[in-house]
Parts: sequence; C-alpha cells; structure tokens
Amino acid sequence: MTASRNLYEQVILDHNRTPRNYGELVNPDATVEGVNPLCGDSFVLYACFDGDRISDIRFSGHGCAISKASASLMTTVVKGESRQKAQQLFEHFHAMLQSDALVAPDEETLGKLIVFAGVREYPMRIKCAMLAWHALHQLLKDNDPS
Ligand code: ZN
Repeated sequence: MTASRNLYEQVILDHNRTPRNYGELVNPDATVEGVNPLCGDSFVLYACFDGDRISDIRFSGHGCAISKASASLMTTVVKGESRQKAQQLFEHFHAMLQSDALVAPDEETLGKLIVFAGVREYPMRIKCAMLAWHALHQLLKDNDPS
C-alpha cells in the first residue's frame, strides 16, 4: 500500500465517521439537491452568501463513504471562499478525477483535495466523489448575482 493510498483511505474513513458541516443550515440563501442513482447517494447542499463570499455551507442526506467524505471535505475547503475560488476548485477537482491516473494533479490549487486522486483507481466511484461538487457547481450557477 502506498502512502497516498493509505492517506486516501484515512481521509475517507475520518470524514465518513465525523462529517464536517453536516446537518441542515437554518435560513440558507441557496439549496440544491444532488443525487447519484447509480449508487443511491442523495444529499442536499445549503449555502449562505456574504456578498461574493460563501459565508456558510452545510450538507445533509445520506450516501456511501466516498460521497459523504467528499461532500464533507468539499464544505471545509470552500467555506469562506469567494464564488470564483469555489468554481476554480470545482474545475480542478473535476479535471483531476477525469484525467488519466498518470497525469499529476495540480497539487498547489487542490491542497488537501489531492487525496481524492485515489478515487481514479475505482472508476465506478468517481460519480460518488463528484456528487457534492456537481451540486456546488449547480448551486453557484443558480445563484449567480451577475
Ligand atoms: Zn456512492
């Protein structure tokens, strides 16, 4: 087992056992539902905005360990960030999971999200890992003030 594989499993286990920002957000500015019927993952994402910034973001629902851990980690990295930064993270995360496993992901932009590169070894689970990110992308698109 490689170090990165080990870290991937640790992060999934940790965020699945203790999901961050889990539970409904009171009076959200925006909500969106994300469903992956192939696996049975179903989440709702809630966000509050302060001008251009995502001031709060939470999620509720249920799904497999990968979908839940990915949603949890996603909320921790986009909370407090600008819409533009959140969108950029979505694009990089998406690119990382779509690309060939031999292509090194952009570590500087992705930060701790990099551990999800491990999902590329399990193509069936990519939709699980992307679910919360697609929901975020949709939420930002639906609530674009410009
Ligand atoms: Zn799943």
